[in-house]
Amino acid sequence: MFINLHTHKPGLKDIEIQNWDIRYPDLVPVAKYFSAGIHPWWIKDVNVDSKLAFLERHIDEVGFLALGETGLDKLIDTHIDVQKEVFGKHLILAQKCSKPLIIHAVKTHREIIEMCKQVKFDLPVIFHGFNNNLNTAKVLSDANSYFSLGGALLKPESNAAQFLKSADLKRVFFENDDKDVGIEYIYQAASEILHIGIDDLCCIVEENFEKVFNL
Ligand SMILES: [Zn+2]
Repeated sequence: MFINLHTHKPGLKDIEIQNWDIRYPDLVPVAKYFSAGIHPWWIKDVNVDSKLAFLERHIDEVGFLALGETGLDKLIDTHIDVQKEVFGKHLILAQKCSKPLIIHAVKTHREIIEMCKQVKFDLPVIFHGFNNNLNTAKVLSDANSYFSLGGALLKPESNAAQFLKSADLKRVFFENDDKDVGIEYIYQAASEILHIGIDDLCCIVEENFEKVFNL
């Protein structure tokens, strides 16, 4: 079975962490595992305090594996200081409730690491959809972060594919995010990039999954 670290479209045949879009709280997750958080894109449209209270009410539910996606995005209109305030509240909640974070980062990887350090955040931090250069990867690796790689792996020249070639596989996951591509195709691409069998790759990711989420 494939582990899909982050998906908006669960197929219900693999082990998946479904992203719960809490703008529509009634659309409860259908996958066994899920994550929830305030995406930086949503900040302008939601009442942040009431959504944080909502998260706190649900965070101990069975299957609630991680807080997120949450993070910082420099390509949106919401001021970065506002985003940092909201992300900072996720950090506090995740620390308090012992939940790993699933991170959305656009041109903000260093800021996120810096904020985690400031509050001495000591739970796993997973950068989802990672497709950045090796310098950024080094900064994140040095901070013991995890990487979830998605559709970019289907392009051999992508940053994600280049990164995977020399990545520490103990820190890697795979995902299909909101793409209409089966998770098996992401694993297939990763297995070709790494020259290792899909079964071996699945075993590695399963170990990572159990370790990061305490399963
Ligand atoms: Zn997503």
